[in-house]
Amino acid sequence: MSWLRWGSNGRAAIRWTLVHDRTVRLPTWLRPTSLYRNYTTSSAPARPPLAVYVHWPYCESKCTYCDFNKYVDPAVDHERMSQALETELATSLAPERGRQVRSVYFGGGTPSLARPATLARVLEVVRRYCQLPTGKDGESVEVTLEANPTSLEVAKLRDFQAIGINRLSLGVQALDDRALSTLLGRNHSAADALRALGQAQRWFPNRTTFDLIYGRPGQTLNEWRQELRTALACTETTPHVSLYELTWKRGTPLYRDLEAGRYRRPDPDLLSDMYETTVAICAEHGLQQYEVSNFARIIPSQAHSAFGSKGPVPPILELPEILCSLPSQSLHNSAYWRGLDYIGVGPGAHGRITDSVTGVRRRTYRIPHPPAWQAQCETDGHGLRRTVDLGPRETLEELFMFSLRMREGLPETRFHRHTAAEAGVAGGIRQFVNGEQLELLLASGHLEWVEAPFVDDVGHCTSGSLRRWQELPTSMVLRPTTKGLPVIDSIIPRLIA
Ligand code: SF4
Repeated sequence: MSWLRWGSNGRAAIRWTLVHDRTVRLPTWLRPTSLYRNYTTSSAPARPPLAVYVHWPYCESKCTYCDFNKYVDPAVDHERMSQALETELATSLAPERGRQVRSVYFGGGTPSLARPATLARVLEVVRRYCQLPTGKDGESVEVTLEANPTSLEVAKLRDFQAIGINRLSLGVQALDDRALSTLLGRNHSAADALRALGQAQRWFPNRTTFDLIYGRPGQTLNEWRQELRTALACTETTPHVSLYELTWKRGTPLYRDLEAGRYRRPDPDLLSDMYETTVAICAEHGLQQYEVSNFARIIPSQAHSAFGSKGPVPPILELPEILCSLPSQSLHNSAYWRGLDYIGVGPGAHGRITDSVTGVRRRTYRIPHPPAWQAQCETDGHGLRRTVDLGPRETLEELFMFSLRMREGLPETRFHRHTAAEAGVAGGIRQFVNGEQLELLLASGHLEWVEAPFVDDVGHCTSGSLRRWQELPTSMVLRPTTKGLPVIDSIIPRLIA
């Protein structure tokens, strides 16, 4: 018995591999073009890169809108947490030994409340089991830390940078003191946030991102416009921003206030205007929208290092038709959206991992409550609560839900890679989706097919990979239009119904 596995050479081409030493005869729709080659075990490439998510579940206080897995504990046992994280990560990475890790993300909770030594120990485990790009070829592993703009956390930025964190995600959320304290329950002021942004850019130049939330009750379009402009003016060189509409999550204090009539949801037309304003102001500041809520800037020095060229920014970066990772976009989140595997460790963390032997993709769930998670890590070596094997259809539905959130959309080549891994699902995108709905959405201008040069399906371009970018392979791609992107969450269920 043989089965297909999939892999990447770190460039655009996808390699088809076999577990056994013979070549598979692929159906016509799966046959490689001249740029996609067949491989046997003798030349089997590494599996696609892996992303690692580490959850630190503690916060100083609880924000009103937050439904993450977080706890306030003034007496955190840092040594025990550290040991449990190391143990669980080692157990999870052992079957993935030798695989390349391109991104590590410390999220929470508030991981910047952890000791730098704890995060250093976690990174050491990743290094022990996996390969990390070193930066010699212009690409290095992305290691992101989430932080809040409190003085306690800002004082530790230098130490975090010293242990290998190279990207900072700052939760600014608002530049309005009343909204920060009363509505959102944040424990910092707007002035703290601007000060923290300055420090973040000092220690993580060209690698800082921040979040803002719009669509707050009572917020006018002009107020949002002003707030966003202020944030961007203070961070002229910020390479990345995440701008979210406020979501009202059941079970949160904010939702209870909504139910009690203390707040009213903003008018949908106002929200739509706020979204359009957001995209327009970001464009004015040189930030390109690459996902519904995420914007990245082209930084010439990074573009040159990623594209291995000198002189002006390669024109490829300026063509919206090109499917290309902007060097400053979040590599870690892009891994989720592109359907790559990720290991999630820590209380309540989720993961998606493809079994290297059976090719089955699996969801993993960790125990959410920290003491119970720690106890199981100590007895069993992991805090896994349950795993769920995904069937072929569920795997592809997830791929649709995430890929179409990105402007780059879903290339047929990526779809085929997943169908190849999921024996029994035949055909291309057109065969998989609801054909009638697809035609309607194409006709209404919400989705479009393009044949686009295909830069890199699995992450950043590596140095040299684009020296001959004019000769890149192309792929048919289904992607959202400017009109479709803001309503993509309501479109996808129609497509996969
Ligand atoms: S700091 Fe972040 S994780 Fe903690 S409560 Fe606030 S939003 Fe939630």
